[in-house]
Amino acid sequence: METDLDQRDEHVETSLTPGHPCRQCPEGTYEKGTVTETLERGDTVVVVKDVPALVCDVCGNSLLAEEEVERLQRILEQAEAQSVELQSRRYQPLQEVGKNC
Ligand SMILES: [Zn+2]
Repeated sequence: METDLDQRDEHVETSLTPGHPCRQCPEGTYEKGTVTETLERGDTVVVVKDVPALVCDVCGNSLLAEEEVERLQRILEQAEAQSVELQSRRYQPLQEVGKNC
């Protein structure tokens, strides 16, 4: 296991369940949905659509599961390694989803 030292705590929730009370507003609860995440590192910007997340039904605040954050991080690292300036893609990878070592 490697640990990433990046600050990644803004949207991260490790145990996600629909119906969880919102952190941002007193009345909302999180429901399953998808969000569009914009990732930036250096000169690389990656826009990822259809990221599974929990979205507050009142204020729209979103939470991502840790595994989603890790996959987004990997997508961003790949784009940066290829010197991509701007990339827009769907969260679901084109290749088969399976074991990635
Ligand atoms: Zn809310």
